[in-house]
Amino acid sequence: MSQAAGFDAERKMQFLYALRSKGVTDARVLSAMEGVDRGPFIRGLFSERAYEDMPLPIACGQTISQPSVVGLMTQALEVTPRDKVLEIGTGSGYQAAILSKLARRVYTIDRHRRLVREARAIFTAQDLTNITAITADGSHGLAEQAPFDRIIITAAAEDPPGPLLAQLKEGGIMVLPVGQSDAVQHLIRVRKTADGLEYDELRAVRFVPLLEGLGKDT
Ligand code: SAH
Repeated sequence: MSQAAGFDAERKMQFLYALRSKGVTDARVLSAMEGVDRGPFIRGLFSERAYEDMPLPIACGQTISQPSVVGLMTQALEVTPRDKVLEIGTGSGYQAAILSKLARRVYTIDRHRRLVREARAIFTAQDLTNITAITADGSHGLAEQAPFDRIIITAAAEDPPGPLLAQLKEGGIMVLPVGQSDAVQHLIRVRKTADGLEYDELRAVRFVPLLEGLGKDT
């Protein structure tokens, strides 16, 4: 059997091409995504498909998002190097790893202890030292580190959770999928201005639901 080539130059080129063709055009986002190998975030059966633009199953019955959706959400978040970012839904840790290349500090929360533990191990192995991964119900946010410049939710809620809107800085941006699970969901962007909240709808998406409490593996 031939040795897996990993995220080699040819795969990088194809990966970036697929991202661009789906509308990920921001140079900083593309370079962050070029700098994070998706391979280690996917174990087992599906690892061979790590460089394809598709969502894949991970542990605890969850999903790693499609790279182009990760790219579009990251792009919509307009992260700057000064930003403190909160992610709800660590999952594999892939999205957090990309954010860590763009932001000053990343906090990421998942309700499954196992996912947080496995993501942390990858962050350490890849020397991504500005990410803190926490096991908790992220719908309450992370009051002790608030306010945040940017908040990204990678699980679908019916509406943006109130505590998270409250923990967003004025001038801040939140990106999240809204809608009922298994129905059509929309990716939305919320900007918090001095005059209130401004919403814009980006595209239809499909995410696992934002659930209450901790996962059963804990
Ligand atoms: N961003 C991830 C994909 C997330 S999948 C990646 O890059 O791989 C959605 C994740 O949201 C799942 O891991 C699920 O456990 C988590 N989740 C769902 N509801 C949650 C909640 N209330 N608090 C924290 N995490 C939650």
